[in-house]
Amino acid sequence: MFQFFYHRRNERIIRRSSITEAEWQQAFDRLPLLARLMPEEQAQLRRLAILFLHKKSLEGAGDLEVSTELQVVIALQACLPILYLGLDWYDGWVSVVIHPAGFRPVRTEMDEFGVVHRVKQSLSGESWQRGPVVLSASGAMQAGRIDGHNLIIHEFAHKLDMQNGVANGMPPLHSGMSAQQWSEAFSRAYADLQSRLEQGKPVAIDRYAATAPAEFFAVVSEVFFEQPAVINNHYPAVYQQLSQFYRQDPLIA
Ligand code: ZN
Repeated sequence: MFQFFYHRRNERIIRRSSITEAEWQQAFDRLPLLARLMPEEQAQLRRLAILFLHKKSLEGAGDLEVSTELQVVIALQACLPILYLGLDWYDGWVSVVIHPAGFRPVRTEMDEFGVVHRVKQSLSGESWQRGPVVLSASGAMQAGRIDGHNLIIHEFAHKLDMQNGVANGMPPLHSGMSAQQWSEAFSRAYADLQSRLEQGKPVAIDRYAATAPAEFFAVVSEVFFEQPAVINNHYPAVYQQLSQFYRQDPLIA
């Protein structure tokens, strides 16, 4: 019964969305990341994105106006990781705060939630356990070009990781998955990345992944969706775990 009403309510929200067909099409056109999805997956992603925008509050910081284009670009990429998990995985928080440009860091190290904040000159994104996802508008608009970097997926991966407490690089695993296998795959890859960096060897993914296990999970999630072959070639065991967790296999799609 509850399921029935829940379903009906969602259908109504989706039907009443004010985002036009042209606006969806523009967003899909500018995001090569989504091109590998089957038409029915794109349709489902769009439905999820509408529900995401209904449930979450996208707020511009300062005088930033959150355009429909920006909303759609963020919602589609935020929902890609949960396409086969469901929107419930983003329960427990409401806001996405968007800054006009990179914003100044207040903290410079790993916070109490296990998330290390980017500290170069400016902070482009962060995620708080029950608080907002914070994104820079420029970082969000650069995501989805399949260059291996995706600020949106990065920050929302932290939210998934935090569904079972502090961000530690291990989100709640599905039944049938093994915490031990996850830990082994990720620990080995993390250690490999760190030792390569120490020895000055080339690395396959952003060195930022070596700052903490939580950052490693967020970065490999970005690359898993953007350039899956990179993860599969360098860290196949991690690819397997991510594929089981996200219930997607972007490599063969
Ligand atoms: Zn991060």
